[in-house]
Amino acid sequence: MMKNTNGKTGLFIPGPTNIPDCVRQALNVPMQDMRAPDFGDLTLPLFADLKKVFKTETAEVFMFPGSGTAGWESCLSNLFSSGEKVLMSSFGQFSMLWVDMAQRFGLNVHHCEVEWGLGIPHEEYRQILEKDTNHEIKGVFACHNETATGVASDIGAIRSILDELGHPALLCVDGVSSIGSLDFRMDEWGVDVVVSGSQKGFMLPTGLAIVAVSQKAMEMRGEANLPRTFLSYDDMMKTNVTGHFPYTPATQLFHGLRASLDFIFEEGLENVIARHTRLAHAVRAGVHAWGLELCAKESENYSDTVSAIVVPAHIDSAEVLKTAYYKYNMSLGAGLNKVAGKVFRIGHLGDLNEIMIVQALAGAEMAMRDCGINIELGSGVAAAQETFIDQTAAASIAA
Ligand SMILES: *Cc1c(COP(=O)(O)O)cnc(C)c1O
Repeated sequence: MMKNTNGKTGLFIPGPTNIPDCVRQALNVPMQDMRAPDFGDLTLPLFADLKKVFKTETAEVFMFPGSGTAGWESCLSNLFSSGEKVLMSSFGQFSMLWVDMAQRFGLNVHHCEVEWGLGIPHEEYRQILEKDTNHEIKGVFACHNETATGVASDIGAIRSILDELGHPALLCVDGVSSIGSLDFRMDEWGVDVVVSGSQKGFMLPTGLAIVAVSQKAMEMRGEANLPRTFLSYDDMMKTNVTGHFPYTPATQLFHGLRASLDFIFEEGLENVIARHTRLAHAVRAGVHAWGLELCAKESENYSDTVSAIVVPAHIDSAEVLKTAYYKYNMSLGAGLNKVAGKVFRIGHLGDLNEIMIVQALAGAEMAMRDCGINIELGSGVAAAQETFIDQTAAASIAA
C-alpha cells in the first residue's frame, strides 16, 4: 500500500511524543563549547527546574546521553551489588525489561509476575517485605505507568508499606511515561530513584535519560559494587557542580529542555497533569462507546497517558495499525510482546489537545472498520466530544 503523505502525520503513540514548535525551534542552535566557563548558565537552571517536575527539593538530578533504558541501568549499576536481593514485578513489556536487566546484572530478583492489565501487586509486596525481617531486600522496584498495557500504579502506597514495616529498601521507580504528565511526588512518596527520558512527557527528541536520586540512595553507592563508568553518578556529580559534564553532553537537547520546561511551567505543571486526565477521560469514553475494552482491568489503574485497547479476538491489531498508518497517515501504538496482535494503543501524552484526541479517535474508528471491527463511525468521537463540551460548560459556569 502507498502511504498517504498529505498533511501532518498524526502521531498518537506513547513516545516519542509530539514536539511543540517552540521546542523544535529551540533545538536549532549552533554547537557550543561544553567546557566554556559559562556553560553552567544553561545547565544549572535545568537541574533546578527538573527538581520541580519531580517534586523534590533534595534529590540529585542527572542527565545522561541516552534513553530511559540508560536511566534504568544507571540506577542498577550505581546503587546495587551483584547477588543482592531486590523485589520487582512485571505486568507489561517495560516492567518486564527492567526485571530482565536486573537479572542480567546478576541481581537476585524476587520477581512477582502479574497478569498483564493489572498493576503493582501491593499485597504481595507487603507479604514479601514483611517476611524479610533481616532486610536482605535492598531495592523495591515499581513501574509507575506501564506503557504497554496502559496501567498506572500507586507509588505512595508502596512507600506506606515500607514505612509501616520499617523496611529500609530503596524505592526505585520507572517514571518514563509518567513524569511531566501524571501526578508524581518524589519527596512526599519517599521515592529514592526515579527514571525518565526526554521523548515522552518532556516532549523532546530521544537522547536524554533524566534521573533523580535521593540523598539516602546516594549514600548507598559507596557500598554498591556493580561496575559503572559511562553512567557513573560520581563522575557526573564531580563535573555537574559547575554545570559541566564528564564527556560531551547533548547540548542541543539542553536548549530543547529549557524550552520544554518553560512550556510546561507556562501552562503550569498542575494544569498539564489535569489536561492529561481530561484527554484520557475522553479517550476512555470513546473506547466505551465503541463497545471495546481496555487492557487495563481495574479503573483505578487506568493510565492518563496511554490507553491500550483490546480488539475482538478474531482481529489482528497489527492490521489496524498498518491501515491507520498507510491509509490515514497516522501512527497508533502497537501491541507489544504478550499483547501483540491483541491490543493497539493510543498515546495521549505530551503536546496534545482536544482536537487532536478527536482526530485520533476518528482515525482509529476508520482503521478498525476497514479491518472488519464492527464500529459505528463517529460513536467514539461523539462520546469524546461530549466529555469536552461538558467540561467547557462546567468551566464557563465556574467563571
Ligand atoms: C518508553 C519507556 C521505557 C524505555 O525508555 P526508552 O527511552 O525507550 O529507553 C521504559 N519504561 C517505560 C514505562 C516506558 O514507557
